[in-house]
Amino acid sequence: CGITGYIGAEDTGRIVHDGLKNLEYRGYDSAGIALAGDDLTIEKTEGEVDDLTAPHAAAATVGIGHTRWSTHGEPTETNAHPHTDCTGEVAVVHNGIIDNYDALKSELQPRHIFESATDTEVIPHLIEDRLADGASLVAAVQRTTAQLEGSFAIAVTAAGHDGIVVAREDSPLLLGHGDETTFIGSDATAFIEHTNRVTYLESGDIAHLTTDSVTIYNDGERVTRETETLEWDAE
Ligand code: GLU
Repeated sequence: CGITGYIGAEDTGRIVHDGLKNLEYRGYDSAGIALAGDDLTIEKTEGEVDDLTAPHAAAATVGIGHTRWSTHGEPTETNAHPHTDCTGEVAVVHNGIIDNYDALKSELQPRHIFESATDTEVIPHLIEDRLADGASLVAAVQRTTAQLEGSFAIAVTAAGHDGIVVAREDSPLLLGHGDETTFIGSDATAFIEHTNRVTYLESGDIAHLTTDSVTIYNDGERVTRETETLEWDAE
C-alpha cells in the first residue's frame, strides 16, 4: 500500500529499504525492491520489511520499492511487487487496482507467461511489448497507461533504460527533490528525512526522472507542476 523510489549516487538499496520502513504505518502484507542499472536486481518477501534483505548492486543508481496490500492474489512472495516482464528487464510497482486486467491478460496470453495472480502483472508485459516496438521507456509507459482502467500509482524501471518513469491516476504519488537526487513516495513520510522540497503529481501525469532531470507529461504534453517546501519536522 505504499511506493517509494530513489535516483542518486548513494546506497540505493538501503535508501529504498529505509523508505519502505517509513511507509510501514500504512499497513501491508508483503514487500519488495528492484534496483536497476545494466541489470535488474529484485528482492521480495511475504510479511515484514524487516524480513526483506536490502538488495545491493554496486552499479545501480535507481531503485523502486513497494509495500503491498493485496487486492488480487494471495499475499505470497510471488505475488509481491515488483513484477517483471518475460525478458526480466522491466520492473513495476503499483498501488491501486487495474479494473480491466482480465481482458488485458487474455490478450497478452499465450505470448506472455504470467507468474503471479495479481492485476498488476499485465503492466510490465504491456510495457515489454511497447519496448519491443522500439518505444522509449516513457513512451512505452504512456501507451500502456492509456490502456489501463482503474486507479493506479506506478513506478517503472528497466535494465538499460535511463531513470524511473512514474504515472498516477487517482492513487497518490509525489516527488522529493534533493541535491542531485530524486525520491518518489506515496506520501512524503517515505523520504522526509532526506528532503522537504516536493512536487505533487496530478491525475494523468507521467514523469520521467533521471539523475539530472525531471520531465512531467500529461495527455502527451509537457506540463509544469509546482515545487513546494513542506513545513515538516522530521524529528
Ligand atoms: N492490486 C495490486 C495487488 O493486489 C496492488 C495492491 C496495492 O495497492 O498494494 O497486488
